[in-house]
Amino acid sequence: MSATKFDFDLMTIGAGSGGVRASRMAAQTGARVAVVEESRVGGTCVMRGCVPKKLLVYASHFAHDFEDAKGFGWDVGQTTFDWPKLIAAKNVELLRLEGIYQRILRENKVELLEGRGVVTGPHSVDVAGKVYTAEKILIATGSRPYIPSVPGAAEHAITSNEALDLPALPKKIVIVGGGYIAVEFAGLFKAMGSDVTIIIRAGNILRGFDEDIRNVLGEEMEKSGITIRRECTVNSIEENGEGYSLNLSGAETLDCDKVFYATGRRPNTDGLGLDAAGVELSDHGAVKVNDYLQTSAPSIFALGDVIARIQLTPVAIAEGMAFVSTQFLGIPKAMDYEFVPAAVFSQPPVGTVGLMEDEARKQGAVDIYLSRFRPMKHTLSGRDTRTMTKLIVNRKNQRIVGLHMVGDDAPEIVQGFAVALKCGATKQQFDSTIGIHPTAAEEFVTMRDKLPAHDEGT
Ligand code: NDP
Repeated sequence: MSATKFDFDLMTIGAGSGGVRASRMAAQTGARVAVVEESRVGGTCVMRGCVPKKLLVYASHFAHDFEDAKGFGWDVGQTTFDWPKLIAAKNVELLRLEGIYQRILRENKVELLEGRGVVTGPHSVDVAGKVYTAEKILIATGSRPYIPSVPGAAEHAITSNEALDLPALPKKIVIVGGGYIAVEFAGLFKAMGSDVTIIIRAGNILRGFDEDIRNVLGEEMEKSGITIRRECTVNSIEENGEGYSLNLSGAETLDCDKVFYATGRRPNTDGLGLDAAGVELSDHGAVKVNDYLQTSAPSIFALGDVIARIQLTPVAIAEGMAFVSTQFLGIPKAMDYEFVPAAVFSQPPVGTVGLMEDEARKQGAVDIYLSRFRPMKHTLSGRDTRTMTKLIVNRKNQRIVGLHMVGDDAPEIVQGFAVALKCGATKQQFDSTIGIHPTAAEEFVTMRDKLPAHDEGT
């Protein structure tokens, strides 16, 4: 089929990070591209996720800095914090970023079609009542917060969408869930002065992370004054005048002024017309794709949170590049999901790349190197916190297969080491690398003693 038969060569539904990257890269190959967006250009990461959250995390760090300054001879005096001022400043920045994203589309001659996009066939999309045709359609509609069906939760609970725009800082907040979003918001609300309780149904936070990361971060969060209620479930939520009462397992009641559900995200596939176009979905509503991000309808592709492989912005962007390479440059490129680094902007933060210890052990014998130490800064600040670094090494070929850290700057540090792991670095190569002193990062190239406790029987 010739592309000229269609209004566009590519129509992307969703102007988030993945959709915008794929659209503009496709347009740069000479393709005629449109992107459909019903909300703000920039998507979850820029408007309702990573970016505003990180700005709030920065804001919360000042609370620790003011406290820590005393140990270094500073008298900071009385400090005050103005939440509405922070939210207003954050919103100005989001407006600026939205403008940049719109400019990127304009400068790359990607047409922005405002309204809800609904797929009406393998080559057609309805946007606010007008049907457009395209040779290829890319579904990049992302995901939305999921709230389980607990009586009162849908009416009374907020999600990360609302948490970023609250009119006032909550005095007492209960966060349900123990994943990325729960621990990140718990840390920032706590540092800003809220009383924070996390409720998790399991025994530990951060399922899917290395066990030592989970334990150490949990300990650090509890030391900071965050309450973690483990193996606890919410049966119902009621309004109680000033706030809310949560009825918990064990016939207990917990009062608070905000309830925040951070219980995962679900792909945005409802009402998109995908079934009519022959696009298969998984049980959780994610779009099923092959190695080249192609759905069961050959002219329709999907990427990012909506395919629910790894719900991270840089992964969606890389998927966008792989899609354009395969479909518009004629160079087939399957996504490589090995050694995808990740960070949790908790307090202290987490950085991780590669296998967890449990996973690595399933693949063969491993050597474990683990270190916990007091960061130099806190010898004078007096803050009671410990950094943890951990290396997991394949015993046979000495390759580093997992690298994990909990502590200040972990996300910045682990990004660099992720390159080394991607290149197949060995323990000997780490050992022969000179450290930068004094830093926390040098610990990764100076770890000499294997953990004996992890060594038995292999
Ligand atoms: P996660 O999947 O990380 O965590 C979900 C949490 O909710 C888990 O603790 C889970 O418990 C719990 N949960 C799920 N269902 C229920 C239920 N019915 N009742 C009680 N608890 C429940 O989701 P998030 O919402 O935190 O984040 C969504 C995604 O967004 C992340 O997976 C990540 O990919 C992305 N993200 C990335 C960030 C980053 O890169 N820094 C920051 C924020 C989000 P259990 O462990 O028992 O299953």
